[in-house]
Amino acid sequence: MKLEFKLAGAPAALRALKRSGDKKFVLVPDSALLAAPGGLDLLREAADLCIEKGAGLSIEGVTPCLLPGYTRYLSASRRSLPCPAKERCFLQGACAGIPAAHSGVAAAFKPPARPLTDLEKCMLAVLARKNKITTAQVLKLAKGIKICASCSNEGEVFRAAERLIRMGLVAKEYRGGVYIWTKKTG
Ligand code: SF4
Repeated sequence: MKLEFKLAGAPAALRALKRSGDKKFVLVPDSALLAAPGGLDLLREAADLCIEKGAGLSIEGVTPCLLPGYTRYLSASRRSLPCPAKERCFLQGACAGIPAAHSGVAAAFKPPARPLTDLEKCMLAVLARKNKITTAQVLKLAKGIKICASCSNEGEVFRAAERLIRMGLVAKEYRGGVYIWTKKTG
């Protein structure tokens, strides 16, 4: 089901989503919804409904700064404009730029305030030195990086890495009985 998710019709769209038995949803929000106060809450509500149903979900024309935590569901726009804030955005690795369709509300696209934690920075620094490596290799390489001293066990690696996966900056794959960690490139 492809749903044009417009600010004016959002309540009706949410009702249609609740009723639908479709197995895949494509949400296409309009610029007004992305820029309006509370608009992103409506979009998150719609996305959560699809996720709770166990349906496939794709959200078009939305960048990670607008929906951090939903990066895996965002599909890049065919036409994008360079983001002037890219250099200071910690989500830039998962972003293709401001969708051209939303150039009229370009000011709504700005880096979220949350900085990366030391553990997250460490994980990215490790993967920048050597990509596609196992958890044991991550821990070994981390010892040579002086960002923090708390990355001492697999649990720490998994927690930091899972957050980076949600941001779309890292991917993991289970292969040969171990996890392989990969830093994604933008
Ligand atoms: S680079 Fe710009 S458009 Fe992309 S996520 Fe960051 S702030 Fe948003």
